[in-house]
Parts: sequence; C-alpha cells; structure tokens
Amino acid sequence: MPHSVETHPLPSERIGTSRSLTVHRFGTPGTRPKVYIQAGLHADETPGFLTAHHLIRRLASARVLGEVVVVPVANPVGLSQVVKGTHVGRYALNDGGNFNRGFADLAEAAQARVQGRLGPDAAANVALIRGALRDAHAEVRPGDEIAAMKHALLGLALDADLVLDLHCDMEAVVHLYTGDALWPELADLAADLGAEAVLLASDSGGPPFDEACSATWWRLSERLGAEGPVPPACAAVTVELRGKADVDDARATADAEAILRTLVRRGVVEGDPVPLPDPACEATPLAGLARVIAPASGVIAFRRSVGDRVEAGETVAEIVDPTAKDPDAARIALTAPVAGLVMARSNVRFAGRGDLIASIAGAAALPASGRGLLFD
Ligand SMILES: [Zn+2]
Repeated sequence: MPHSVETHPLPSERIGTSRSLTVHRFGTPGTRPKVYIQAGLHADETPGFLTAHHLIRRLASARVLGEVVVVPVANPVGLSQVVKGTHVGRYALNDGGNFNRGFADLAEAAQARVQGRLGPDAAANVALIRGALRDAHAEVRPGDEIAAMKHALLGLALDADLVLDLHCDMEAVVHLYTGDALWPELADLAADLGAEAVLLASDSGGPPFDEACSATWWRLSERLGAEGPVPPACAAVTVELRGKADVDDARATADAEAILRTLVRRGVVEGDPVPLPDPACEATPLAGLARVIAPASGVIAFRRSVGDRVEAGETVAEIVDPTAKDPDAARIALTAPVAGLVMARSNVRFAGRGDLIASIAGAAALPASGRGLLFD
C-alpha cells in the first residue's frame, strides 16, 4: 500500500458544521519503524503546512520500508477561527485553551495494565506497553470536538517510534523541544535541520503533544524499571520551523528533505544515508530558556536579531513610550537575563506590559519560576 488518504470525521458541535482530519498513510500499517508527522496543531503556524506538502510529495514516490503517517493539517478547529480578519490559531476561542496543552497522560492507565508482566526483554516490554497504551487510549471518551481532535491525533501517534510535531515561533531560528531521555538520539535530526537550539526537559508541563507521546515511557521506566527495561520507545519532538512569516518553497523543500534523510537513516524509507552536517548547537535545558518580558507598554525597538549571541546584561530591545514628556526618558532597555542565543522574538512591534519580547537559550537551568517551563 504505497499511499492512501483517509478522512477522520470529528464530532459536530453545532448543526450544519462538521470538520475532519485528513490522514496520509505510506507503507504497510503495522510495520516498523513507524513515524508520525503532523503540522499546524497551532493552526496559525504555517511553515509546517508547506513542509508537510513537500514531504507528502517525496514520500509518494519513495519506497517506504516501515510506516509513515502524515497529518498535514492537524487542527481544523483552530484553522477556522478567524475574528474580524485575524486568525487565532494558538488558543481555542471557546475556552481559551492552548491547542498544544492538555493531552491525555496515559502512563497511569498503561501501568495498571502491564504491572507485573514485564521481563528482561526490552523489545517484548515495548510491544506490551504499546498494546496497553492503545487499550488505555481506546477507553477515553472525549467530551467535545476539540477533545476528540486531540484524542484522534494522539491515537495516530502514540505507538510510533518517531513523532515530529511541526510548529513555528513568532520570529525564530530553527529549534527543537524534546525529552532529556531522547538526546542525543535526535541529534541527527537537529543537525540535518540546522537547528540552532535544542531544549531538553523531562516534564515541561501541559503536557504538550510531544510529551504526551514520549514521556509515558520514562514515567513507566521510573515506576516499573525494577521489573525489566523500559526504553524511551517513542522519540517525539516539537520542531519549530523558524517564524510565522518564514514560509516559502525553498525552505519548506529543504526542511522536508532533512526529515526524509532522517527517515532514511532510521530505515523507514529506502535510500543511502548521506553524511550529516556538523551540528549547529549543543542541547541546553528548557529550564535555561530565559524570557525577556516587557515591564511597561510601548513600541518595541529591537537591538538584536534572532540567531544573535548575547552576553548577560546586553540590551536586546528598547520599549519606547511616545507619550513621555521627556523624550530622553521615554526608553526602557530590556537586557538579556543570561548569556545565550536569541532564539525567538516577538513578531509585533508594540508591547503591552507583561508581553513576551524575546527568548534566550542559556546553557544552565535557571531557578524555577513556578509557572512551568513553557510560556503559554
Ligand atoms: Zn506552536
């Protein structure tokens, strides 16, 4: 079965409205390795759509040895949310929920199913746990359309060996979020994509989609490791494909080719592995990602660009209040809290007090802020 396309209807919330997920499948279901790739869970993050398009084109003519599942538009609910000409794709308009949070944590339900049944064979344990995850997932009864959409996406991905969730930031360099246990396993993908930052965590809070797929494995390893080995069998990663406006065929083709080379290296797609470029970065802790926040409202005048390296105390941007009586006192310098890479910055140029202006990837974990590692 080289390439098939399925439509998964979502439950209708309102008479006369219905949405669905379109699922592209390559290879033979059940063969390994299995790879799951989705784009646009944050529905206003467009680069992944075009990358998925180029990937589908390439996969359709490739010899797929394992199984590849691609959902090129993962969030039709978010895609439909336009308010007076502005697309709102990150948060649900009905309750304000972030579309990439609140995925089901199936670790406990899977644990109950496999406790006392693991043994010394890691591959047998992985197969047993995957079956338990599928069973636990099948018992969940999502309450509404958005919950059903998240449930369907997780169901397509949860037994995959590799999961790529394609996102983007406001303005940014290519960067990845993934689990501590999955590094350096994913270093080849990072190098091939030219990622300039890789942020590692074991529990970033939320949980986001990638952790809903992957963190189950290290949670079960902690709880059941005495019974037998539980490897991190689902390598899930959030891939941030630059900024919202970085959408063109040249970059999307290059990103799709990098992903395809990763599939070749893993034996999912037939081909000859090619040498990797040198990595563009070392991995750093997600807890070391410093946020530059606007202390007051005003125009954002950036002093540094994404991809720049800064020292602690260096000015990244100034906030300008044009109403100040003394123009010389109208500017507030926003400085880098730590040394590191300006990984992302705002794509608007006016800030409200408390707005996120820039994110700087530092090398060392910062003291816990109490608000979780992900900036909602
Ligand atoms: Zn996103």
